[in-house]
Amino acid sequence: MERSILVSACLLGLNTRYDGSTKADRRVLDYLRQHNLTPIPVCPEQLGGLPTPRQRSWFVNGDGSTVLDGNGEITNADISMNLAFIRGAQEVLKIARLTDCRRAILKQRSPSCGVGEIYRQNLVVSGDGVTTTLLKRQQIEVISEDDLDF
Ligand code: SF4
Repeated sequence: MERSILVSACLLGLNTRYDGSTKADRRVLDYLRQHNLTPIPVCPEQLGGLPTPRQRSWFVNGDGSTVLDGNGEITNADISMNLAFIRGAQEVLKIARLTDCRRAILKQRSPSCGVGEIYRQNLVVSGDGVTTTLLKRQQIEVISEDDLDF
């Protein structure tokens, strides 16, 4: 039985967020322990070549799907960030294949990792992040830390 699972690095306590902080999540850590799962930490934005700390990014329009298809746009207020976010998603997919991961827990509402909710401008709207979309297109199951609320 598969024992490894991709997890957003910031949910595991790594300081990968745009402001250099973490979003360590007790629900995620408890879930991994209870199910005897080995987390594979991934941060798509770092893997896409972005520094930490970095400027915050958000969707101007569209979502992960439209960005991957060349229509949507992610910005950091100065420049388009599409290429870095797509590159990061592709690197995470490589890691999924290398580690034979078929499941992921990713950070809700991030432009890379959001699962069902993302920020467009300052509003929370329906949609997946870029990495979440690419993984789902490859039939990798993606949930967020909020799905562990039970
Ligand atoms: S890209 Fe994903 S893993 Fe990296 S800091 Fe943002 S939410 Fe966390």
